[in-house]
Amino acid sequence: MSLSPSRQPAESPIRNNWPEPRAAYIHVPFCRHRCGYCDFSIIAGRNDLVPRYLAALRREIETGPWLPTRPHRVETLYIGGGTPTLLSAAELRELLTILDERFERTPTTEYTIEANPDGLTVEKMRLLREFGVNRISLGVQTFFDDQLVQLERTHSAAETVEAIQAVRRHFENYSIDLIFALPGQTLEQWEQILTNAMQYEPPHISTYALTFEKGTRFWGDRDKGLLQQTDTGIEVEMYRFAAKFLQEHGYRHYEVSNFAKAGNESRHNATYWSGRPFVAFGPGAASFVNGRRQTNHRSAFTWMKRLETGESPIASTDELTPEERARELLAVGLRQRDGIPFRPIREMTGYDVFDLCRDELAQLAARNWIGFDAERVWITPEGLLFADEIAAELI
Ligand code: SF4
Repeated sequence: MSLSPSRQPAESPIRNNWPEPRAAYIHVPFCRHRCGYCDFSIIAGRNDLVPRYLAALRREIETGPWLPTRPHRVETLYIGGGTPTLLSAAELRELLTILDERFERTPTTEYTIEANPDGLTVEKMRLLREFGVNRISLGVQTFFDDQLVQLERTHSAAETVEAIQAVRRHFENYSIDLIFALPGQTLEQWEQILTNAMQYEPPHISTYALTFEKGTRFWGDRDKGLLQQTDTGIEVEMYRFAAKFLQEHGYRHYEVSNFAKAGNESRHNATYWSGRPFVAFGPGAASFVNGRRQTNHRSAFTWMKRLETGESPIASTDELTPEERARELLAVGLRQRDGIPFRPIREMTGYDVFDLCRDELAQLAARNWIGFDAERVWITPEGLLFADEIAAELI
């Protein structure tokens, strides 16, 4: 019996000394509206483009350089965006079918999709379950209506609560995202938001401080004096409060911005933090395979057009030297509370980072941002507030 061309085994494109990627990310760029603080690669209010996007995505996955032509086994699969659940049920089915044909899941594969409270219908949740999706990452952000309006989110607090309750009925494993340090937000309101979240006992919570990114409405409004960025002191207080509050409620603070009940840590994100390879598809998506980082065109229009005309959607390629890779592994690994042992970095890069970064590590330890011994290095509770600065020092 001959196999169809798409099913024929092919030579693996993975170089011998690199593991095959077992994590895949799919970027779905559609949103109802661009939130005032968002600088992601998205297209707002253009769901008429979904069929074109799906055709381009199919082509990218089929012709991309990383995957052998057989279904590729993944341990984690993550559909992010954008708002993937903004697709209609029929479009979502098509997306899930494309991924089903191309990726082989095991019984333990973590399969996540990002969703917003509006548009996540019971029909879509059933469909997601039918295709093996077993984890929802829900963009809650806050439980205050006026703050949702300020962020330009397209859901109300009541819709948010309904969505969490519905997700709980359909999925054992789910995460909620919360944003703190909004202009004018008080510590009492932040405490209220965290307290509200506890009612639903989400297995996983991500908390992010609001950032002002160039090009966003928030950035412009701050420049014009229309928005006041929260004082750093209050932001730090809110971060510390959340860390303490969530730990007291049984969550492990396992990464700078992430908290989980035991066993519910995000395995997909752990791939990024531990420096293991991953593949990614869609506009702006970045893959890391064979020690090379390749990033797609950020504009969804350029990304689609290039795939339609048979051109590569890749906008940039960076090949890290072993030393750069060693430094990056150290910097990224330090985002995790458990820290990172030196040995795997040595095995992956040939560099002993204890020798390579001796001075930087000593300086960071002197500031009480990290601790280390002969075997490993870890971030301290104080250092969690300076994770970006630590990375900058090491890279
Ligand atoms: S829903 Fe998320 S991805 Fe979409 S515009 Fe808002 S913040 Fe950006």
